[in-house]
Amino acid sequence: MKIAVIGAGWAGLAAAVTATQAGHHATVFEASRAVGGRARAIFGTELDNGQHILIGAYTDTLRLMREVGVDVDQALLRLPLTLLFPDGQGLRLPSLPAPFDAFVGILQARGWGWRDKVSLLRTAVGWQLARFQCRPQQSVADLCATLTARVVDELIEPLCVAALNTPANRSSGQVFLRVIQDSLFGAPGGSNLLLPKVDLSALFPTPAVRWLESRGATVTLGHRVFSLQPQGAQWQVDGAVFDQVLLACPPWEATRLVESSGVPADAWLAQAHALQFESIATVYATSDTRLSQPMLSLKAGPAQFVFDRGQLGGTAGLLAFVASASQGDRQTLEEPVIAQGRAQLALPDLQALRTVVEKRATFACTPGLQRPSQHIAPGLTACGDYVDGPYPATLEGAVRSGMAGTLSIQ
Ligand SMILES: Cc1cc2nc3c(=O)[nH]c(=O)nc-3n(C[C@H](O)[C@H](O)[C@H](O)COP(=O)(O)OP(=O)(O)OC[C@H]3O[C@@H](n4cnc5c(N)ncnc54)[C@H](O)[C@@H]3O)c2cc1C
Repeated sequence: MKIAVIGAGWAGLAAAVTATQAGHHATVFEASRAVGGRARAIFGTELDNGQHILIGAYTDTLRLMREVGVDVDQALLRLPLTLLFPDGQGLRLPSLPAPFDAFVGILQARGWGWRDKVSLLRTAVGWQLARFQCRPQQSVADLCATLTARVVDELIEPLCVAALNTPANRSSGQVFLRVIQDSLFGAPGGSNLLLPKVDLSALFPTPAVRWLESRGATVTLGHRVFSLQPQGAQWQVDGAVFDQVLLACPPWEATRLVESSGVPADAWLAQAHALQFESIATVYATSDTRLSQPMLSLKAGPAQFVFDRGQLGGTAGLLAFVASASQGDRQTLEEPVIAQGRAQLALPDLQALRTVVEKRATFACTPGLQRPSQHIAPGLTACGDYVDGPYPATLEGAVRSGMAGTLSIQ
């Protein structure tokens, strides 16, 4: 079949690779001059559109990266889940099979009292006994009502904004439990942190394009698709005819194209229009001092984490501060983040280099959210991190949607 893929983010590229593997001919249209969408290098290869982390539970992403020729062990630094603060306090899971790593890690957590540890162990056992299910309307804060304030502030809140990019009091308990289940209680190594040692474009998008082109697929950059029209059982994409269309652009662009096509998709459009978005800011900064860990947790301030990119294959002294679910723009965020870094990391020489704010970084993963399905109309399928699925807006969610969208093609 001739398949059009609209958008060359991780979802679109995963869709195109899967379609090519299935023997179809894929034509990818990408509006910008670079592939990778929200997860790509910017300004050459030194900085990314935003600092990203992967975890061991991203099984489909890792498989597809290997498929297109990425040496995953070289490209990613694999660490046991480590959420340490600059003073050395916090959580570090030992290398043990799940879930013993979590239990031992919690018991050994530094800086927490017995009340904190027992509250977390008791709550985690409760989640497991409930098979990681909760009522759809429950927020993460509701699920954590029995935890001590310290565990909520130092573990749950940062984990929740890192995974769901939505604060605990308005984020989906069900999606959070799924992430906890798959990472801490799933396959061995699921909770491992995988920190990129290459830029995000080199991690998958660029090798994926090379893989696609060497197998006869077409990837067209700088082509923003304007028109999508049904033509019998087929589709016209800016005038060219295809058997199937995989719509792998963000929801605001997907709704524009679906509306202009005139196909009846009221329910899908209503759900896509109802999505709300959260911002993520990455403040790149420099300092002469090497951090004690490649990644550290931060307290009380806009940024939740800092990454030492010098320890991750980048230039020595380059740091990336991440403020998930952030409020404000570059002007209002940069200064407080630098002040936070100077104070908490004891880095008086810390200087801002560049700040990237993605206003619509991810959809807000709220309780009971009804996400649009993959199926829009016959021959028209949505792919992207926002479509209905168990995961929040992540690379794994994007990749899985791309693969599933393609595999659903008859
Ligand atoms: C700052 C930041 C930090 C993040 N951190 C993490 C993290 O640590 N871990 C994690 O797993 N996830 C993280 N995410 C989320 C992750 O980046 C996204 O879930 C994922 O990249 C979404 O991929 P996608 O393919 O669904 O969409 P996109 O990446 O948005 O791709 C859509 C593509 O469609 C193109 N397009 C749009 N309109 C058209 C058109 N009309 N015609 C042709 N092309 C079009 C766009 O240019 C874009 O390339 C982060 C996101 C951001 C922004």
